[in-house]
Amino acid sequence: MRRGLGPWVAVTLLAATALGGCHLGHGPAAVDAARLTDADKDPGNWMSHGRSYSEQRFSPLDKVNADNVKDLGLAWSFQLSTNRGVEATPIVVDGTMYVTSSWSVVYALNAKTGELLWKYDPKVPREVGHNACCDVVNRGVAVWKGRVYVATLDGRLVALDAKTGNPAWSVVTVDQSKPYTITMAPRIIKGRVMVGNSGSEYGVRGYVSAYDADSGKLIWRFFTVPGDPSKPFENKQMEAAAKTWSGEWWKFGGGGSPWDSMAYDPESNLLIFGTGNGLPWDEKARSPKGGDNLFLSSIIAVNADTGEYAWHYQTTPGDSWDFDSTQTLTLADLTIDGKPRKVVMQASKNGFFYVLDRVTGKLISARNYVPVTWAKGVDMATGKPIEVGDDHYKAGPEVQFPSSFGGHNWHPMSFSPKTGLVYLPAQEVPGAYGTDDKFAFNPGQWNTATNTDLNTLPPDPKARAAMKNAFKGYLIAWDPVAQKEVWRAAHKGPWNGGTLATAGGLVFQGTADGHFNAYDAANGKPLWSTDTYAATLAGPMTYTVDGEQYVAVGAGFGSIFYLVAGFAVDQKGSPENGRIVVYKLGGKAVLPKPDLTKIEMPKPPAAAAPQAIAAQGHSTFNKYCLVCHGYNAISGGVIPDLRYSPLIGDAAGFKDVVLGGARKSNGMVSFAGSLKEADVEAIRAYVITEANAGYAQEHASAGAR
Ligand code: CA
Repeated sequence: MRRGLGPWVAVTLLAATALGGCHLGHGPAAVDAARLTDADKDPGNWMSHGRSYSEQRFSPLDKVNADNVKDLGLAWSFQLSTNRGVEATPIVVDGTMYVTSSWSVVYALNAKTGELLWKYDPKVPREVGHNACCDVVNRGVAVWKGRVYVATLDGRLVALDAKTGNPAWSVVTVDQSKPYTITMAPRIIKGRVMVGNSGSEYGVRGYVSAYDADSGKLIWRFFTVPGDPSKPFENKQMEAAAKTWSGEWWKFGGGGSPWDSMAYDPESNLLIFGTGNGLPWDEKARSPKGGDNLFLSSIIAVNADTGEYAWHYQTTPGDSWDFDSTQTLTLADLTIDGKPRKVVMQASKNGFFYVLDRVTGKLISARNYVPVTWAKGVDMATGKPIEVGDDHYKAGPEVQFPSSFGGHNWHPMSFSPKTGLVYLPAQEVPGAYGTDDKFAFNPGQWNTATNTDLNTLPPDPKARAAMKNAFKGYLIAWDPVAQKEVWRAAHKGPWNGGTLATAGGLVFQGTADGHFNAYDAANGKPLWSTDTYAATLAGPMTYTVDGEQYVAVGAGFGSIFYLVAGFAVDQKGSPENGRIVVYKLGGKAVLPKPDLTKIEMPKPPAAAAPQAIAAQGHSTFNKYCLVCHGYNAISGGVIPDLRYSPLIGDAAGFKDVVLGGARKSNGMVSFAGSLKEADVEAIRAYVITEANAGYAQEHASAGAR
């Protein structure tokens, strides 16, 4: 019968088999509007960040399923030359994987073998790392008609030839004299590359831009917060938004940077994205007379062709807690109260799970998915949270759930239309907030206007351990219609990986303690687990080559939690621990184990200054150094632990680094604009006291053994 079809059909069939479907002769990354819109018909490829425009991160592939997932083994792994965070979701098109690593480096790999096809390093100046709150990460690329698009940490958008990795064009999307950064994956809609930016702790005004994919020409830009009201507003929404602010917010920039999530609804032609916190965090310092401060901490929809405003929903009006609303935005069609509803969903950093009408932005339902202490619920009449007290910690410091780490952060969630459940990496990390009465805006530094001295650990090791144990992390399966938890899988601690749901009845998730797991999507039963030897935080994905299904994830120790909360981290990094790990049924490859040998702390120098000076140094450290070097100078291992540094015994050498910028090429910039010599000496005295405390504790516990 096949013979009867003739040679032409036979050749076509052969080609289709060889390439896993289609697009022979179109070259690499041959993705267009039709292919992206119909992504569900092409399940062997993963052509955009959340797989499809709905960003559901649900794959129709089912060759790997609940019955055989136990046979999953390593197909290949690829070493990324980094010891910094790996947060990218790989893209796979017609047998080629495109993925990024820290410092916005792009790799093209053979998706079947892991062989390197090309690598593009945008050579981001290392001092830009100082402007990145949360490690020098990148969450991936977009692809379109033979090109690969990456947004770099220093604010460029670069189009690369998918065949060679050579740049076709590059544009600067931000004012590089300001502390903007970009860590998000761009999205491409009808030949327009959509990209936002980060920097709402440092001194920026957020916006989303659309660039022409062919030429790099700017097509439209939508600002998320109003600028200087003495100058003309960009549009009537900015004019209206300015009425919800007071004071001189524009001098700080205002914030509201849209730094991660985006989704696109082709039917309404709306691009939906989330915005970040205000600058500074504390509203009293940003907008002294209060107000909602639109469009901070909001979900916004704009016309994808023009950037024209369609609707917004603000999750945290007048935010004072760093409650970015930038977490995954997932589109789905649900039946609610017997009616079909087109929705957008978000498990927001503030602890509430929101279901909105994605065409109108109207709130359908909201419920807390983790313990929430700052609000009692969401008022369905106004759509606003019912806050507990309204003074935003003016009366005194408050310890609160969630904190700036969020009940859920950037780690992408997934939704399975088969189970109707959302799979959500959730966590409980408390945070202390208090007013900083002496706040003065310092562009390019950490500007929260909160009392950073509250970020101090209790001195007693037992109290510290108890604090660490109070941090929780778990995978939740959430029913978005009933707004309730269906099952949960507990993890050892917070800050676990993004999720992938598949038609094989599986949910995949990496964990902070260096594992990659599969669960039964219906009931949460653990079905498979493997050791990745590094925190595995990125969004997993799946694809096929030659009819065989692969499951891939980025693993790499790094990102904000490990910069800040080193005391809570058991497994630390190694000099080159970033990897892409890829699994298939019957895979037999072996993952090389990195050297995770603990380095012993050298005997620290004796106290360099009286206790009072060291205490002053602690306060200065909290303000300027903690965000990278960790609570109480305990590093999570992403960047050097100062307590181990020989420089703490060398006043001149220490000063050379902190004021002289001697380690600028590693990302440690000079703080000469903010700190005086006496401040630096006090910081050094403080780090010496922490080194002595750490050394004494290590030796006490060694003695006890
Ligand atoms: Ca933030």
